[in-house]
Amino acid sequence: MCQKLMNPPEFQYILENYKEICYNVKNAAAKYGRGDVKIMAVTKTVPPEKVNFAVSLGIDLLGENRVQEYLSKKDSYDKSAQVHMIGHLQTNKVKYIINDVDMIQSVDSVKLAGEINRLAEKNNKIMDILIEVNIGDEQSKSGVSADSLYTLIEEISPMKNISIKGLMAIPPIGSGDEVFDRMNELFLSVREKSFPGVSMDILSMGMSGDYETAIKHGSNLVRIGTKLFGARKYLEV
Ligand SMILES: *Cc1c(COP(=O)(O)O)cnc(C)c1O
Repeated sequence: MCQKLMNPPEFQYILENYKEICYNVKNAAAKYGRGDVKIMAVTKTVPPEKVNFAVSLGIDLLGENRVQEYLSKKDSYDKSAQVHMIGHLQTNKVKYIINDVDMIQSVDSVKLAGEINRLAEKNNKIMDILIEVNIGDEQSKSGVSADSLYTLIEEISPMKNISIKGLMAIPPIGSGDEVFDRMNELFLSVREKSFPGVSMDILSMGMSGDYETAIKHGSNLVRIGTKLFGARKYLEV
């Protein structure tokens, strides 16, 4: 009951930020005729106390980028929030997270999917995943190209311990509406195709700088770091 009172006053800005994000998300969804939009708190570089404060405010989904950082923080997390891996995941690190995360959003190769499937089977679970699409065709970024998406889904969907739930994308900073729209079209086209065992429920797109544009173009899961927790203190890889 006294949870919020016990949190240091310097966390209060997170409450203000969260209120603003909720307001903007609701407005954008109404304005563009979208349904429910889920807000994820992206936790990279953020100490667990602040993450837990966000959870106490109503955040029920956390996004993790780095396996190492996640492992060092997970025991301190409020367990009421779900956790999704959203960062590039190396095949040899799947084993560290397979039993802890509720979804892996950053699957972009058969090799990675194969390892997730193998370990999920071994641990008696079905792992929900999103396929990450490199919608901006950026050389330096992970994600499957739009051209190879169907093929990748055809290869992964027969894997018994994986369930494909949708797509994830990181449009390049400064992208115009057309890039977000292209991603939405791609999402709808995969849904249209009705691949066996594949449900296109989630389009994970939009971050602090572009979440309203993303919602306009069909995103129903926005991943917010900076706008919620403030600027990150150190450089990220
Ligand atoms: C860091 C990160 C975010 C959040 O970025 P902000 O601009 O701080 O909101 C979202 N998605 C991914 C994959 C990220 O790595």
